[in-house]
Order: sequence, then C-alpha cells, then structure tokens
Amino acid sequence: MICVLAGGVGAARFLDGLLAVSGDEPVVAIVNTGDDTELHGLTICPDLDTVTYTLAGENDCVRGWGLAGETWAAMHALERFASARPVGSGAGATWFSLGDRDLATHLYRSHRLAEGAPLTLVTAEIAAAFGLACTLLPMTDDPVRTRVTLAADGREIGFQEYFVGLRHDVAITGVRFAGIEAARPAPGVMRALGEARAVVIAPSNPIVSIGPILSLPGVAELLTERRDAVVAVSPIIAGQALKGPADRMLVELGLPASAVGVALRYRELCGTLVIDEQDAALAAEVDSVGVRAVVTDTIMRDTERAGHLARAVLDRAATA
Ligand code: GDP
Ligand code: CA
Repeated sequence: MICVLAGGVGAARFLDGLLAVSGDEPVVAIVNTGDDTELHGLTICPDLDTVTYTLAGENDCVRGWGLAGETWAAMHALERFASARPVGSGAGATWFSLGDRDLATHLYRSHRLAEGAPLTLVTAEIAAAFGLACTLLPMTDDPVRTRVTLAADGREIGFQEYFVGLRHDVAITGVRFAGIEAARPAPGVMRALGEARAVVIAPSNPIVSIGPILSLPGVAELLTERRDAVVAVSPIIAGQALKGPADRMLVELGLPASAVGVALRYRELCGTLVIDEQDAALAAEVDSVGVRAVVTDTIMRDTERAGHLARAVLDRAATA
C-alpha cells in the first residue's frame, strides 16, 4: 500500500499519475482539511473536492478548480440579496464562487454531517459516487481551521478569506491551525501511515496543505520513526510555486523559497526529496541538510508525466 499526504491541486495531479502506474497496489490519500470552511450553512472541503474531481476526470483544468461544464445560476441569483443583507451578516456571500454542480457536493456532505455521519464516512460516500479507485481519508473528523496573521495590521483571518478573498496577495507573519491540539487523526490514518510501504508527501503547499496533517497529534512522530520510507516531492521549482503562495509563505516564515527550503521544512521526517531538473544544482545542498535529493522532471503537464514522476518516487521508495 502507498500512502500519500495530500493538499489540493499539486496532490491531485500527483495522485492521478500514481494511480496510472500503481497497478493493483492500494493507494490511500490523507487529505488536508485545514482549508475547509463554512458558507451558506454548508461545509466546504476544497482539498478533498479538488482531489475527488480530478481523480474522477471531472475537474476544470482550464480554470484550475471546480468541476468542468459548471454553471453559476445559484451564485448569480444570490447577488439579488446583496442590497438586503444587514451590515455584519455574511449571508449570501459571493466572494467564494460555488458552481451549481459543485453545490450538489456541498449539499450532500452538509446534510450527511448534520445527520451525524463523520467526515471520513461522508468522504468515502462522495468518493464512491464519483467512482474513485483510491481511498480518500480526511486527515481528521474534527474541525481544524487554518488561520493566517496579516503583516499589515496583525489581524488574523480565515484561510479562504486570505486565499480567495484577498487572492493571497498580502504578506503574512504567521499561520495557525485552530483546533489542531484537540483533533485526532481520522480513523485509518495512523494505520495507513504505519503500514504503507511508502509514504509520499505530494507536491503541495508545505505550510498550509501538508502542515496541518503533520501537526496532528502523533503524525510527525510516527513519520520520524519511518523517515526512510517517506519521500516528498518539492512543490517549489526554480524558486517558485507553480501555483499559489507556497514560495512567498516559505520566505515569510523564515525559510528559503527553494527545494532547500522544502528540505529544511521536512528534514526531521522525510528521508528523500524529489526535486526538479531545473534545480539539479541544489541537489548537493539538499543532501547537506540531511535529505537525499533525487532529480527528475517534476512538472506534471499531463497524466503520463505525472505517472513518470510517481514511478520515480516509487523507485526511490523501493531502494530507501
Ligand atoms: P491547493 O490546495 O490547490 O493550493 O494545492 P496544493 O497545496 O496541493 O498545491 C499547490 C502547490 O502545488 C503549489 O506549491 C505548486 O507549486 C504545486 N504544484 C502544482 N502543480 C505541480 C506540478 O506539476 N509539479 C510540482 N512539482 N508541483 C506542483
Ligand atoms: Ca488547498
């Protein structure tokens, strides 16, 4: 069994490639829920949904998020209420776009959660409805919400307000995972991490996508014991994230925006880091912080290239 720690887009692409080359070997993805949010009375799990939609082949690759063939009638209809909404109310918010088909996922999930079903079970139901071939586990059934502190005025805001509302175009000074101390890894998470022949840290944002998973009680400790079986893929290529604020966040939190910064972030619990060909010159520096560097093409333009990357990761894990 192969276990993958996953955020959203980078992880979804990697998993797509991994499933193309993993044959009969089971794959378990443990997915970040720190990005989750509540809007319109609905529970929205962006990373779980990105992975689900991508693996089902139903994601919108042009827009980069959500479902292909989406329509926006509900969002447009909400605009009517903008002038009626009292000051201080978040009702009818349209700053976070939810397509009509995407809304169906949130309606189903929220109803099931309200019936008392844990997120792990609801996630499995949604994955089954989308016909997924791998097991998706939310990192926890307990509420964990990522919050960031703005450099400008020291205010702390929710992750989606930063990521979508402010288009992550502002400096931050800190990240906190509210609820993490009381959260327990979801059922199946510790077993998958303990039994997997390889634990792969997907090329996701190290701070806000992988950070919450590693901060759950017991997870980092277990991976530290299994360090030789843990292989990460750098989401930073030539000093930049391919998408999103991972590069800036590393710098703002005191690490270099490079594969070396990723190695420094993961060094305690990760034996091997796969870095891009463009960063071949950094391999020696990655080695010198105590993480074995493996150099290959890590840009996942399509399933075939993502499959090549997944194979390189698995080869590495086999010889670890
Ligand atoms: P989000 O939750 O959708 O923002 O997604 P993730 O945290 O999973 O992914 C964002 C990270 O994925 C960014 O830092 C990107 O640089 C990285 N990423 C996306 N596509 C690729 C790719 O093809 N190769 C590599 N190496 N990283 C990628
Ligand atoms: Ca995310």
